[in-house]
Amino acid sequence: MPQTGSTPGDDALRKTIAEKLAGGLQTEAFPRAETSEMVNEIVGRLRAEAVGDLDKKLIIGGFTDHTIEIDDIEQPCETCMYYLVHRKFCELPELMLPVEPEWSCRLWRI
Ligand code: SF4
Repeated sequence: MPQTGSTPGDDALRKTIAEKLAGGLQTEAFPRAETSEMVNEIVGRLRAEAVGDLDKKLIIGGFTDHTIEIDDIEQPCETCMYYLVHRKFCELPELMLPVEPEWSCRLWRI
C-alpha cells in the first residue's frame, strides 16, 4: 500500500505554516483569482518568485488560516480540487504544501 497519510515532515511544516499565519504574516488574500488571467498571473509569480521560498508561497498564494467566503461560497482547502484529503496536502504544483482543511488561499478552485 502506498503511503497516503500525513507524514511527520508534513506535520512539522504544517505547524510552521500555522505559526506564520497566526503570527500575522501579511498575505495577498485579495483579490481572489476569479479569472483565468488572474490565475495565470498568480501562478506565474509563484514560479518566478517563490520556488523554495515558503513565505513567498504563502504571501503570493494569499493563504489564510481560516476559510474565506466569496459571494456566499466558502473557499476552504477542504473543498478545493487540489486538496488531498488523507494527506491534508495541497498538490497545486506551484504550492505543494501541507494544509489544514479550514485554511484557504486565493487559488481555491472546484
Ligand atoms: S490551492 Fe486549494 S488546497 Fe491549495 S492552498 Fe489553495 S485552497 Fe488550499
